[in-house]
Parts: sequence; C-alpha cells; structure tokens
Amino acid sequence: MTNVTRRQVLLMSAGAAACLPLALVDGRLARAADMPQLDPDNPQAKALQYTHESPNPDKKCSNCQLYTGEPDAAWGPCSIFPGKQVAAEGYCSSWVAQTG
Ligand code: SF4
Repeated sequence: MTNVTRRQVLLMSAGAAACLPLALVDGRLARAADMPQLDPDNPQAKALQYTHESPNPDKKCSNCQLYTGEPDAAWGPCSIFPGKQVAAEGYCSSWVAQTG
C-alpha cells in the first residue's frame, strides 16, 4: 500500500487547480470551433439581413462589438446568434462599432 503524505496531496491539488483555467479556455475554444456556421436562410439571420460577405468593407463581423471570434479566424461566435458561428467577413443590420 502506498502512503500519500499531506504535502503530496496539497501539491497535486495545486497542480490541478493551476491546470483548470487552461482547460476552461481550451474547452471554450473547442466549443466555438465546433459550432455550426450560421445559415443566412435562418429566420433570425434573414430578419437581420445577415450575409456571409459584408456589402460594406468598413462594417463586418470581425470589427463588430458583438463578435467574439479570434482575430485571425474566418468564423467566430456572435452574441446575437448563440450557438452559431458567423463569418468574420459577414455583416448584419445589428452591427455595432467596436469601442476601445
Ligand atoms: Fe456580425 Fe451582426 Fe453579429 Fe455583428 S451582430 S458580429 S455584424 S452577425
């Protein structure tokens, strides 16, 4: 039988706690990448005139306040369309300029 000291238990706990934030970040990124792409024919997308290619180069998902995709990703999450990814080059009528 192996004896585990209190010190070993504390060290293992500290190691697990240190890894938790990384696991959460990796999990968030993995989930975002697994989300389906928004279909422009989705009723909510149609209502907001969503398109995969913005008609205005100055207004696109990648520079919208509501976009949470990675800076160099082609697709990413948007708070208007939970559970879906929108195109970084996309656009909808809810576009909001980024602040700061
Ligand atoms: Fe793109 Fe519209 Fe979402 Fe902004 S609100 S990220 S423009 S889909």
